[in-house]
Amino acid sequence: MIVYSLKCDNSHEFEGWFASGAAFDEQAASGKLVCPVCESRRIGKAPMAPSVAGTKRTMPAADEVKKMRQFMTGMRKYIKENAEYVGKKFPEEARKIHYGETEERHIYGEATLKEAKDLVEEGVDVAPLPPDLDEQAN
Ligand SMILES: [Zn+2]
Repeated sequence: MIVYSLKCDNSHEFEGWFASGAAFDEQAASGKLVCPVCESRRIGKAPMAPSVAGTKRTMPAADEVKKMRQFMTGMRKYIKENAEYVGKKFPEEARKIHYGETEERHIYGEATLKEAKDLVEEGVDVAPLPPDLDEQAN
């Protein structure tokens, strides 16, 4: 035996028991199925109830993105206010500071990826400057 949720064309839902799926098809096709409420003969299988998933959101909330932007912008501002810009001389200056050949201070500037890797391998403390999101947006 097999049980189906059935629905007539007036949206009455009821259960029907059949020997098999084929038996249902046969009875439905020959008009033997009758709605117990309105006696309609237009009967179909009711759609399965959609499985309702949790409503957990996986996208980061807008305020988290905003906080991140504020953090990065603040970091850039801090660096620009507290460090000396040395431009392309950055790898050279960073090394001098690291080896005590010049005054110890915060610097920032430009380095290629390879230069930055070499510095890190030598133990020089360097970190990429966070991207300026506001500039990139323009
Ligand atoms: Zn009905």
